Amino acid sequence: MADCLVQKLALPTGKIIEVNTGLFINNEFVKSVEGKTFETIDPATEKLICNVAEATAKDIDRAVDAATEAFEKVWQHVDGKERGRLLYKFAELIERDKEELAALESLDSGKAYSIALTQDLVACIDIIRYYAGWADKIHGKVVETGHNKFCYTRHEPIGVVGQIIPWNYPLVMLTVKLGPALACGNTVVLKPAEQTPLSALKAASLIKEAGFPPGVINIVPGFGPIAGTAIARHMKIGKVAFTGSTATGRSILKDAAETNLKKVTLELGGKSPNIIFEDADLDQAIKWAYYGVYANHGQCCTAGSRVYVQDSIYDKFLQKFKECSQSKKIGNPFDPDTFQGPQISKTQFDRIMSFIETGKKEGATCFMGGKRHGDKGYFIEQTIFTDVNEDMKIMQEEIFGPVVAISKFKTDEEAIEKGNMTKYGLAAAVFTKDVARAFKLSSAIKAGTVWVNCYNSVDTNAPFGGYKESGHGRENGKYALEHYTEVKTVQINLGLKM
Ligand code: NAD
Repeated sequence: MADCLVQKLALPTGKIIEVNTGLFINNEFVKSVEGKTFETIDPATEKLICNVAEATAKDIDRAVDAATEAFEKVWQHVDGKERGRLLYKFAELIERDKEELAALESLDSGKAYSIALTQDLVACIDIIRYYAGWADKIHGKVVETGHNKFCYTRHEPIGVVGQIIPWNYPLVMLTVKLGPALACGNTVVLKPAEQTPLSALKAASLIKEAGFPPGVINIVPGFGPIAGTAIARHMKIGKVAFTGSTATGRSILKDAAETNLKKVTLELGGKSPNIIFEDADLDQAIKWAYYGVYANHGQCCTAGSRVYVQDSIYDKFLQKFKECSQSKKIGNPFDPDTFQGPQISKTQFDRIMSFIETGKKEGATCFMGGKRHGDKGYFIEQTIFTDVNEDMKIMQEEIFGPVVAISKFKTDEEAIEKGNMTKYGLAAAVFTKDVARAFKLSSAIKAGTVWVNCYNSVDTNAPFGGYKESGHGRENGKYALEHYTEVKTVQINLGLKM
């Protein structure tokens, strides 16, 4: 059965890549119970790439049963050193096949191939190696409780965890989620986004090749309201980790509350401020701000989509920022010099275009861009709005496209007030040469990450997550491990009498 699910996919470069398009359960690729499939589309051409098996609630049950059995019979008895060894092997296989994985990522998501290869894949390998290193270093503490007693803690795996990931960084998200869960000794049911199932399925083959026991990792592509909800509501899943929209995060929290109160971590949206002072290195600030908002076609939860520039340098900044935009290529993701590919889907394309129209109606000036790029594929011009105010929808809602608002401020206090004026708190940046000001702003901005004189500079060992409606919990680094274990306290009587 598995063989008939293998599809040969032709890349625009002429290369052929084989992908197994079944659900990956118990180390086998299988059809869905109901035999359903769904289409995955190339956003650069709007053409069908292939059909992929679609998980429904019955398949989630199957995957959870496999993960439960694997946890109880095998994985919880596998020691940290061996878990680490398997993760290192997985990283090695990702590295071996990085060109194929990057090409699939590019085909399915529209990301520039050169960027997928040199940034996304590099991050994926790094993340899995980082957590491989943690696998044999997860342990509790001795707690001092006085004479006649010995008290210690154990950090035990939760059991089966559900992971629901988005389409903007499909493989990076997969590794960010799998790494800490497996290092801590959990088994996993992971649902990739319906827009980008292919790189996750290719990674599934590597999971099997690496030697993970059957059922430890199960990958089940499907739709959010069907397969995603089944994970969020499953009674045998002890924790769910989600990255995506705030609306879906809210619904997952509700599902967890209404069922078994599973633990939930959420990495949600943002509307991040990027504050640029007159004493900053202007050329560097422009390059970082540009990358900060337009990286990955603006489809970045940390996108610095509200740029505040001190009034004395505003005009110069705006002009140079525009010149920087005009120098970058939008187009075929497989061209080596492409910076920006298409948006992920027709839905996202329409959503972004409607935000652009709203901005114009709200009275903002569309200083650059604002239109579709080309006539095929979901490409959008890099867009700049000026003459904005904090009440506008385009200043409050996450657009998730190549759209930035650039406005002015005068004082530190005004920058802080405006910077904090949204329901989100994922990230922020400050550009200044004044150390005291950098510290002051970093403390005053309510965000999970504040960059100083850089943007979107993420490290595997540095925690990442949001304040306010940008989420619950932290990913990356040691902090992520806390969300994948239960802490057990053991108190041993060494002589206490009743
Ligand atoms: P989404 O949050 O709905 O989808 C993300 C993942 O959640 C996908 O795997 C999807 O299948 C799943 N999902 C959807 N509904 C679900 C449900 N009810 N229960 C469980 N899982 C569910 O995001 P979207 O609709 O693809 O995009 C809409 C907006 O979300 C974007 O414009 C952007 O603002 C935001 N977004 C943010 C991120 C991020 O990295 N924070 C990523 C993707 C999208």
